[in-house]
Amino acid sequence: MKAIDITQKKENKEKLSYAEIEYMVNSYVKGKINDKTMSDFVWSIYYNGLDIDETYYLTDVMIKSGEVIDLSSLNKPVVDKHSTGGVGDKITLIVSPIVAAAGVCVPKMSGRGLGLTGGTVDKLESITGYKLKLSKKAFLEELDKIGCAVISQSEKIALADKKIYALRNEIGAVDSIPLIASSIMSKKIASGSDIIIIDLKVGKGAFMKNIKEASLLAKTMVKIGKYYNKKVICTLSDMNIPLGRNIGNALEVKETIDFFNNKYDKRLYDLSVYISSLMISSAKKISFTSAKKLVINLIENGYAKSKFYSWIKYQGGNINKIRDKARKLEVVSNKTGYINKIDSLKLSKLVFDLGAGRVKKTDNVDYAVGVVLNKTIGQKVTEGEVLGTIYYNKKVVDMDSKLLDVFQIDKRKKKVKNIIIKTIK
Ligand code: URA
Repeated sequence: MKAIDITQKKENKEKLSYAEIEYMVNSYVKGKINDKTMSDFVWSIYYNGLDIDETYYLTDVMIKSGEVIDLSSLNKPVVDKHSTGGVGDKITLIVSPIVAAAGVCVPKMSGRGLGLTGGTVDKLESITGYKLKLSKKAFLEELDKIGCAVISQSEKIALADKKIYALRNEIGAVDSIPLIASSIMSKKIASGSDIIIIDLKVGKGAFMKNIKEASLLAKTMVKIGKYYNKKVICTLSDMNIPLGRNIGNALEVKETIDFFNNKYDKRLYDLSVYISSLMISSAKKISFTSAKKLVINLIENGYAKSKFYSWIKYQGGNINKIRDKARKLEVVSNKTGYINKIDSLKLSKLVFDLGAGRVKKTDNVDYAVGVVLNKTIGQKVTEGEVLGTIYYNKKVVDMDSKLLDVFQIDKRKKKVKNIIIKTIK
């Protein structure tokens, strides 16, 4: 086999065989073909696509390039959750303990954030002492005792995806549905759960900008799951507006604590309850309505909150010592009216400039910095009232006006759209 012939075949829009895809991926991982040759292959897929069989072949080869986690020793129902990442997305911190409190195991391997905002790992690292690296034995023990565990993703999972995804980021070939679907699913399937709930963000602050493309990605991931007899459910959720009030690593941990103390933003609550209910209903094989009732109970009776504290403590975290040292700047409104839009992309750029995100995996993030929205979508604000608070350790040029620019304030109030767009199974 020759790499150039395989790339040419894809350029001619012909269907590739398992062996051809395997040859390209494994040769690249072993260093037998270079970045340039692999980039040509990636671009041929980017422009000509892959059908569902080819997408499965790519997923499978990437799964086999690394370790596959065996969760069969757990004697409780198990469900995994994945988010494609959004602005203010602290859903994993909230739903993991809720679902664990319902007697369902949540084995979560999370990544560091790349780009504008931090990932779950960065958020948890803002808690002093929290251990993100656990041995497989300790991970399984925690799942048995606590019911949820969140660790950083093993370097050994889907090794080929790691290398190809890094290359795609470098050459700008990320937004291709078969490439994204195989990349996400290779990691999720190798992580061992039989049920995978995916929160697919759509809108300005997400990498899927419209519902049509996001639906196609969701359907592709659901179909890949079927090749492995895994149940994959994708919820499309709105990311035109940031999720919750706090954006920034430590600030999002604080918002999680607020949530469990019954101080929550409505959209954050709605999505958290929805995702938790989906996870519980599929894992326990009960109706969504019964699962939702259970979720609301677990939040109200404090069981989910105590599970949150037990989980963080079990992994060594001191919740009273959050890395949140920053200066504060309150930004007041220059208008009176209703908040009809909060531009999540502009907001995430500001938070990134403050130091909360990273470009390369090895970059450091400032855990403490970010923005708190004192006012949010649908609310009335009067001139002179505080709209938002910037937490900073270095000043960003015009940061106050940049925060003001995030808000669209009009005389008339517009209807706030539901955060949940649709669910594809
Ligand atoms: N997240 C992934 O893991 N892979 C992609 O290709 C895009 C987002």
